[in-house]
Amino acid sequence: MPQLLLFDIDGTLILTGRAGVRAMNRTFRETLGIDDVLAGVPLAGRTDRAILGEALARFAPEHPADDTWLLAFRDRYLELLTEELGSDQPGKRILPGIEPLLDALDDRPDVHVALLTGNFALGAEVKLRHFGLWSRFPWGAYGDAAVNRNDLLPVAFARARENGLGGLSAADVVVIGDTPHDVACAHHGGARAVAVATGPYSEAALEATGAEVVVPDLSDTRAVLSAIESLTARG
Ligand SMILES: [Mg+2]
Repeated sequence: MPQLLLFDIDGTLILTGRAGVRAMNRTFRETLGIDDVLAGVPLAGRTDRAILGEALARFAPEHPADDTWLLAFRDRYLELLTEELGSDQPGKRILPGIEPLLDALDDRPDVHVALLTGNFALGAEVKLRHFGLWSRFPWGAYGDAAVNRNDLLPVAFARARENGLGGLSAADVVVIGDTPHDVACAHHGGARAVAVATGPYSEAALEATGAEVVVPDLSDTRAVLSAIESLTARG
């Protein structure tokens, strides 16, 4: 069995019913007076830094995209994200099989779970706390640390070392996510990828990424565990 499973959040563990998008759009509206900024910006699988940087470059190119702006934006976004998650908008849920899978992994002392997500760390926390999943992940590599998702796998390795997982090789690591960016991130760093079609991409689209495993969802705990196990057997 691989030693470390790195889970994406949106489209993999949960769906927020676009609460994140609404919160970001509202933050842009409040801070820069621009409506519907994210309408044409690709979102899935990208880091919050990448999304906000592109939106700002498109709609307010004269505005400096420095960390002062980013942190102020983030803080207001987190407030509005909390509000949006608490709203009665539909589509918010934990995806099928997530809790049974995490329960099964809890019984495997040889396997560690953590997060690898483009969300700001505090955004990840707000989202997962809303669904009661935050305590299931002892640590993570978060979107604060990079613009490009591929750069988050080395961050995850560093965090793994800090958390007592020294000597981990890339072959011991599996990235579980719902977009081609998740698969690219895994392969860029020599890890393997499990792609799950519970986000915006079909199984066929995910097969085309070269992911080692593609599943419609994570609902069949035994099948998912044996698929993950098979990644190690491949050597
Ligand atoms: Mg995702």
